[in-house]
Amino acid sequence: MNNDTISYNFSLLAKLMDIHGENPFKSKSYANAAFQLDKLTVPLASLSPHQINGLKGIGETIGTKIVEQIETGELKLLNEYLSKTPPGILDMLRIKGIGPKKIATIWKELEIESLGELLYACNENRLTLYKGFGEKTQQNIKESIEFFMQHQGLFLYAQLEAWVALFEQQWQKQFPHLPTQIVGEFRRQQEIIHQLDWVTTVQADQIATWLTTLNFTLKNIDNPNHIQAVSADGITICFHCTQAEHFYQTVFLNSASEIFLQFWQDNFGNVMDIACKDELSIFAAAGIHPIPAPQRETIAIIEQAREKVLPPVIQTNKIKGIIHSHSNWSDGSNTLEEMATAAHENGFEYLVISDHSRAAFYANGLHPDRILAQHREIERLNKLLAPFVIFKSIESDILNDGSLDYPNEVLASFDLVIASVHSNLKMPLEKAMSRLISAIENPYTSILGHLTGRLLLSRSGYPVDHDKIIDACVANQVVIELNAHPRRLDIDWRWIEKAINTGALISINPDAHSIEGFADTRYGVLVAQKAGLPVEKNLSSFSVAEMKNFLLIQQQKR
Ligand SMILES: [Zn+2]
Ligand SMILES: [Zn+2]
Repeated sequence: MNNDTISYNFSLLAKLMDIHGENPFKSKSYANAAFQLDKLTVPLASLSPHQINGLKGIGETIGTKIVEQIETGELKLLNEYLSKTPPGILDMLRIKGIGPKKIATIWKELEIESLGELLYACNENRLTLYKGFGEKTQQNIKESIEFFMQHQGLFLYAQLEAWVALFEQQWQKQFPHLPTQIVGEFRRQQEIIHQLDWVTTVQADQIATWLTTLNFTLKNIDNPNHIQAVSADGITICFHCTQAEHFYQTVFLNSASEIFLQFWQDNFGNVMDIACKDELSIFAAAGIHPIPAPQRETIAIIEQAREKVLPPVIQTNKIKGIIHSHSNWSDGSNTLEEMATAAHENGFEYLVISDHSRAAFYANGLHPDRILAQHREIERLNKLLAPFVIFKSIESDILNDGSLDYPNEVLASFDLVIASVHSNLKMPLEKAMSRLISAIENPYTSILGHLTGRLLLSRSGYPVDHDKIIDACVANQVVIELNAHPRRLDIDWRWIEKAINTGALISINPDAHSIEGFADTRYGVLVAQKAGLPVEKNLSSFSVAEMKNFLLIQQQKR
C-alpha cells in the first residue's frame, strides 16, 4: 500500500468520524496525519514501526494503524465507519460545497440519504431552513449535484429535452434534407433515458467525423451501420444508419418495447419485407389500427388495435386546473396571489392550493391558526379573480399511524385533502400498506398524493401492493395522483391502465412549488399518454363546474 492510499484512508476516516459526530479531537488527529503523510517523500512501507511512530504528526496510535494498512492492505476502523454509512452519504463527500458537518445535518436532521433526495430538497428550498445553509450554499450544492449526476450516464426525460432540441438544430444545419428521426426511449416518452437514438440515411462515417468535431467520444465503431458516441456532458447517443427504402421500417423497429416487437414479428412477419412510404404503411400491412410510438409497449395494445381504432389519449392543452400546489405559506417560492394570478393568466380555470400540513415542520407546514388566515386570503382572492377559483386544500402528511395531520373539524374546513407520506419513508410493505389504506379510508381524503414516494434515479420509494391500493381508492372514491414532477411521475404509468379499468380516477398534478412548476404538468401528460389515459379519467381535466360537482360528491363521504 502506497503513501497516497494511506493518506486518503485517514482523510476519509476523519470525515466519516465528523459525519458520525465523534470527538473532533480524534478526527482532527487523523486529518492532520493525512496532511503530513501527503508531504512525505519516503515510502512508508520502507520504514520501521519505530520510525513511523516518530514521524511528525504521527503518534503510536496512528503509527499502529499505518503498519496495519501496510501489512493487511486494510484499515479496520475505516471499514467499520463505511459499513454504517449509507452509500448516498459517501456520494455527498464528492459534492463540492458540503463538508462533513453539513452532511451530518443533511443526514440526521433532514433525513436525506441520497444525492437525488438532496437535489429535490434544494429545489424545494428546504436547505435554507437549517443553520449554516444560506441561499447561496443551497444553489452551489444544487449545481454540484446536477453536475455529478450528469456524469452518471442516466437522465430524466426532462433533463434531455432542451439538449435534444439543440442537437437536432445543429444536425439540421449539417445534414439538411436527409431523412432523420429520433426514436428509442425518447420517442417513446420514457421517464428515464439511457441513450438517445436516431434513425438516419446519412452515412455512418460522415456522422462519425462530424461528432468528433463536436467533442463526442466515439464508442463501438466496429458496426458500420451503428454509430454510438458519448457527449462531453456524459450523454450517450446512437445513430442507426440505413438506406432510404428501409428508413420507416428501421424507425418502427427502434420505436417499441422488446415484447411488442417480438409479438409483432411472430404475428405479422418481418417488417423489413414491407414496402412503405411511412410508418402507417406497416400498420396497414398488418391489418391493424395505428399505435402511437409512446404506446408501443405491451401485447395488449396490439390486441386492442386489432379490434378497433385506439381511443384518443390526453393532451397537455386538456389540463384545465392546477391541482396540488404550494405557496410561500409553506415551502413554495411564490405568494398565493402570484400563483393564482399566473394560473389564471395561463388559461387555467382553477388552482388547488395544497400547502404542507403541520407535521412537515421542515416545509413550514401550516398550524390551524395559519390555515384560518390562509382561508381568509383565498376568499379575498376568489372575489378578485372570479370566475377563476382557488380551492382550499392541504397536502396532509399521512402520519406514522396512518391518520391525517389535523382533527376532523380542521379537515372539514378544506374543499379537498391530498394525503401524502413524507416521513418515515423507510418501511416494510406491511407498514406502508397499513398507513396508506388508513389514509385512503379516511373520509376526508380526496386524493392520494405521490403513491410510492419514489424519486427517479435516486430513491426507489417504499414498497406497496398496487392492486390493493387501487382497489381501496376505488372503493373509497379516492383519486390517485399522477405526480407530474419529472423526478416523481408517481403513480407509475405502468399501473394506470389497471387503475382506470378498475374504475379509478387519475389526477395529473404538477406539485408546483413555484409558478414555473406548473409546466411540469406536461411530463405527467407524456407518461399518461403511454398508459393510454383518456381525458375524461383525469381529474385535472375537469372544468371548474365539473370540479365543484366532484367536490360535492366528496363532501357526502364526510
Ligand atoms: Zn408531497
Ligand atoms: Zn406537494
